[in-house]
Amino acid sequence: MADVKRVLPAVDAESREFWEAAARGEFAYKRCVSCGRAHWYPRPHCPYCHADGTTWESTAGGGTVYTFTVIRQNSSSAFRDWVPYAMGMVDLDGGPRVFARFVGDISGLAVGSRVEVSHERVGDVDVPVFVTAAEVP
Ligand SMILES: [Zn+2]
Repeated sequence: MADVKRVLPAVDAESREFWEAAARGEFAYKRCVSCGRAHWYPRPHCPYCHADGTTWESTAGGGTVYTFTVIRQNSSSAFRDWVPYAMGMVDLDGGPRVFARFVGDISGLAVGSRVEVSHERVGDVDVPVFVTAAEVP
């Protein structure tokens, strides 16, 4: 099997604020200026009311696990060193539901678990990940 490398995120005009927030230890998302709903992934227009105006918000806090799965096999060379690892979705406190990778001790992870925003350095950027609240010092 070919050796596959993990693809680094592209930092461009659309995503720059997200990566800058990540470098500050925060998770950035967008909120609609018309209906007030938060959404993820960041878009220049609202996915709920289709208004043409959104603003950035961010949190360094936590959220609640909405769903997750534990991956116990992955033959890709980009991910096999992570096995077992957990991916899922988190309802950010006051924010939207976001896609998430969970790091650290995932043995106690459950739907409804409290998690906190953390970051993992990948190349030149900090990629947001989540740790269980019990692991936060
Ligand atoms: Zn809206």
